Amino acid sequence: MNCPKCHDKTLVQFSHEGVDFDFCSDGCKGIWCDKGELAYYLELTKDLPSERKLEHVGKKSHLCPSCHSQMWAVPYFLSKPSPDIDVCSGCKGIWLDFKELGELQKIAMNLEVEGKLSRTLKQIEQWSKLK
Ligand SMILES: [Zn+2]
Ligand SMILES: [Zn+2]
Repeated sequence: MNCPKCHDKTLVQFSHEGVDFDFCSDGCKGIWCDKGELAYYLELTKDLPSERKLEHVGKKSHLCPSCHSQMWAVPYFLSKPSPDIDVCSGCKGIWLDFKELGELQKIAMNLEVEGKLSRTLKQIEQWSKLK
């Protein structure tokens, strides 16, 4: 699977705390989460806190690295300021830019689930240093 942003970079699969996810270790350090994986990292039941029609609240972004459908940049929370994350209209996977990982950590702190996400982010930092 290729990075949806860098195109020519292949995503590398890593496992952390029982979930496999795909990481652009040579390029932008973004992360691909299959449907349900983001919720798993954040220890929530759903990837996004509320349902939304992607084409109503989002902007077109990249093509999905997994199923090649259109992804939409949508705010994580609809009711308060939050980073845009890219959600696939087909497989409902989620692409996280590296800067969004930091934003997500702030969100996780608000949700008081930051422990697991912090550990994942530290792990990602270590992986990016191996390169
Ligand atoms: Zn990339
Ligand atoms: Zn997709």
